[in-house]
Amino acid sequence: MPEDTPTPIDDDSVYRELGVPPVVNAAGTKTRIGGSRIRPEALADMRRAADEFVELGDLQARAADLVADVTGAEAGYVTSGAAAGLTLSAAAAIAGRDVSVMDRLPDTSGVADEIVMPRTHRTGYDHALRAAGATIVDVGTNDPHLGTGATSVEPWELDRAITDETAAVGYVQKDYTRPPLAVVADIAHDNGVPVIVDAAAEVPPVENLSAFVDDGADMVVFSGGKGIRGPQTTGIVAGKRRYVESIAVQHLDMHVAADVWTPPEGLVDRANFDGVPRQGIGRSMKVGKEELVGLVSALEAFLDEDRDAVRRSWVDRTERIAARLREAGLAVTTTEPGGSSVAPEAVVSLAAVDTAARELVATLRAEDPRVYVGADGLHEDEIVLNPMCLTDAEADYAVDRVLAALDG
Ligand SMILES: *Cc1c(COP(=O)(O)O)cnc(C)c1O
Repeated sequence: MPEDTPTPIDDDSVYRELGVPPVVNAAGTKTRIGGSRIRPEALADMRRAADEFVELGDLQARAADLVADVTGAEAGYVTSGAAAGLTLSAAAAIAGRDVSVMDRLPDTSGVADEIVMPRTHRTGYDHALRAAGATIVDVGTNDPHLGTGATSVEPWELDRAITDETAAVGYVQKDYTRPPLAVVADIAHDNGVPVIVDAAAEVPPVENLSAFVDDGADMVVFSGGKGIRGPQTTGIVAGKRRYVESIAVQHLDMHVAADVWTPPEGLVDRANFDGVPRQGIGRSMKVGKEELVGLVSALEAFLDEDRDAVRRSWVDRTERIAARLREAGLAVTTTEPGGSSVAPEAVVSLAAVDTAARELVATLRAEDPRVYVGADGLHEDEIVLNPMCLTDAEADYAVDRVLAALDG
């Protein structure tokens, strides 16, 4: 058993220099441990962006064209993450083009502020919607888990829950979420309200960039820092022009005299507003020129990359991880991409060994470098290794450390 495997961490690690333990990431694109490995093209362009100045509205308008192009939506916007995109989408649904409502958010007294969601779509990210002042009204049940055949939500339940107090319908895109988005979007549109879709972690596949717009999303958010591998603090909203326009004026810096307010054409039409809105609820979620350029660059590189080669490298790495762990006598299965991860993963059962999964995860995290493996299966006494954020050397190291920890 290789107890003293050389670490795959660079000698000039900035985290080491700061006295902070670096992480070998076998857990996938998790925000807590830094998200994804940013694309080198994006990083190089961010460096160039940092040396010059630009009107951020112009840059957002350029990004909007790209987002519109790749999603099929009318317009797009770059946010400081998918969660910020949810807050801004909720703010757009609630305030529309009313500058006085924009000015009051998150105070929503007197305006429709409810977001109707199927109960089974609720997640911790709901807070991002509530941060705009929205109140979530959830409908349906958790019945599918009873195994009776009953659904989690019926179309009529959603339809009846939409009232004069409703600002939007919320939808979280996952393999398990029901009913299909197209059904929910029809109900929302019949009732004259937009649908906000959280698809933060749903790309790749690249086709998903347009799939939810096709199915009727009025606003859909994606993370820029997950599968797209842009800057960590970026996200994308793709949607109808009127909502993106509202998002833009609630997000861009608005300390500007009315006489010289020249919002970017194509993104914001001045004539739609009574005056210059004040600093909006989105002002605290600002996006710098470097991040904006980095996201545009990463998105273009993501569209251009050899997707089969990327997929193959994930499969190969996962199989190599699985084979080495099996050789050591562990029970390992590999998953197909598309469930909880866009990449295939190696799931290791610890049921037959002395060390509990929770113990192993804690031991690995306490090492230097810290080794993070997926911990979503602790209740099943499983750990998960995800190939997306590993080099081959790091994958070997992670396997070595798992085996060493089980041996110790
Ligand atoms: C990651 C994630 C988010 C948040 O995305 P950020 O870009 O980190 O803000 C929101 N919703 C879901 C379902 C996610 O997986």
